[in-house]
Amino acid sequence: MTNTQRPQFVNPRVFKFNVGFLLAQGPGHQRVIELDLPRARLVDDTELDFLRGELRFSRNSRGILIQGTLQSRVVGECARCLTPIPIPVTLGIEELFSHPPSADFPYSVDDTGILDLAPLLREEAILAMPMGVLCRPDCAGLCPTCGQDLNQGACDCPPDDIDPRWAMLRAHLDQTGD
Ligand SMILES: [Zn+2]
Ligand SMILES: [Zn+2]
Repeated sequence: MTNTQRPQFVNPRVFKFNVGFLLAQGPGHQRVIELDLPRARLVDDTELDFLRGELRFSRNSRGILIQGTLQSRVVGECARCLTPIPIPVTLGIEELFSHPPSADFPYSVDDTGILDLAPLLREEAILAMPMGVLCRPDCAGLCPTCGQDLNQGACDCPPDDIDPRWAMLRAHLDQTGD
């Protein structure tokens, strides 16, 4: 199962919104934006298969409140064999981007009017991912000694009567060569 195709990601600029007009309009104004994005990568390390939904940007006296629900699929990995697996998640977004930036809020938008959603979406995606997801319920995992994916078949390692500390040492020696 080798994947030689290099995934194409949408340009991270799609997560940057110019909200200067909303800031200028003042409290009470709002704008709904629709997201329908293919494969995207957030802040270099979190991959989404897609991202869909609506977000409402509401200007209030403290900045811009963003609310909405997004459907996505985060690329996680099997807790046992580390195979990448897409995990469906629902992101409930409700976050104030303070304006001007304030130490009281983790997110903000400054006078440029450019609001970057990527860090918030990454945070929400990570929070939404369940722990210990398996590629299948009976995933056999990796051999702790040689690292072989035991779903593909057994390896030649002797049954695990080896002290794990010795196994680690041996793995280290294997790596460093003769
Ligand atoms: Zn697995
Ligand atoms: Zn093995």
